[in-house]
Amino acid sequence: MKPFAYARPRAVTEALKLARGGATVMAGGTDLLGLMKDGIAAPERIVDIRSLEPLRGWARAKGKGLRIGALVSLVDLETSAELARTMPIIGEALRPAATAQLRTMGTVGGNLLQRNRCWYFRDEAYPCWLKGGVRCFAIEGDNRLHAIVGAEECVAVAPSDLAPALIAYDATVSLTGSRGTRTMPLVDLFVTPHGRVRREHAITSDELIIEVRVPENALTRRGAFEKAMERKTWSFALVSVAVSAKLIGGVVRDARIVLGGVAPVPWRARDAEKLLEGQVLDDAACQAAADAALERAEPLKDNGYKVPLARELVRRTLRRLA
Ligand SMILES: Cc1cc2nc3c(=O)[nH]c(=O)nc-3n(C[C@H](O)[C@H](O)[C@H](O)COP(=O)(O)OP(=O)(O)OC[C@H]3O[C@@H](n4cnc5c(N)ncnc54)[C@H](O)[C@@H]3O)c2cc1C
Ligand code: SF4
Repeated sequence: MKPFAYARPRAVTEALKLARGGATVMAGGTDLLGLMKDGIAAPERIVDIRSLEPLRGWARAKGKGLRIGALVSLVDLETSAELARTMPIIGEALRPAATAQLRTMGTVGGNLLQRNRCWYFRDEAYPCWLKGGVRCFAIEGDNRLHAIVGAEECVAVAPSDLAPALIAYDATVSLTGSRGTRTMPLVDLFVTPHGRVRREHAITSDELIIEVRVPENALTRRGAFEKAMERKTWSFALVSVAVSAKLIGGVVRDARIVLGGVAPVPWRARDAEKLLEGQVLDDAACQAAADAALERAEPLKDNGYKVPLARELVRRTLRRLA
């Protein structure tokens, strides 16, 4: 690893000043340090944001929904009995993610902004398109774990398990930077790399994630999360599915179906969501929505298995909701 300068500011303004000067933000460091050790990232300066109080803590305020600070550790969310009552899908999404040690160090902001796990991306010997090279090695190479929908020049998939769960509840994310503070739907934080856009997130290098919010009206929905992995622990999703909906007299309102591990971004299956609106959530409706969710899938040579896997996982997760 190349030597780097290190600073741990106590104020957000100081952190932003350092980031504006070219320093790279670090929270738990569980992804960034791995990239540095592997020679994929080589920042000259690191700004450790773990002492920034405004990014800490989570709470549900009456009528105002849920606020989760960017520095909240994954383990704090996963083990909270109160959160298990308020929004159980978060615990469901986090318990099978990584390891207890990683969830202790890893933070909400870092989980959302972690880089993809494409093996060519993580290997410094491959100067692939996303890293500024001319070709994607995965398109012709080993693409067992890659995208089946929505990809352009880069077929890597968005790895976060937390993101689909939060997006299924219409979460928003607040960023602050030199041009002020902005809030956007969390789904828009994720970018499909294409053309000149060789990045995975809509955040600039001089911005910080401050918090994620879930609106109060979304918290009344039921939700469920399922994840298929190669093994039972320490494993990223082959496919994950987060669903939420209101069930009024058994009839679906405001359904959300979000898939992880299938696309370069957390993938909202909007056609399937529309299909469910106003339907009774019976077996036939779950199956029809699952079929619609994968209708546009275009698997690569090695990952055709993801299509039936994702379809079945959507069906099963919707059945759990019912
Ligand atoms: C073996 C292994 C298995 C894993 N399995 C899973 C899994 O199954 N599911 C899953 O979801 N994840 C998994 N992970 C990923 C893990 O959850 C992430 O590494 C962790 O959540 C990142 O959080 P962090 O705080 O350590 O981020 P860091 O490494 O500190 O940062 C990651 C990125 O986010 C940026 N960043 C962090 N916080 C902010 C902020 N507030 N504002 C602006 N930029 C910020 C950093 O600059 C960096 O680019 C796994 C990781 C490993 C190593
Ligand atoms: S899928 Fe993306 S990250 Fe992987 S080799 Fe292709 S361009 Fe690089």
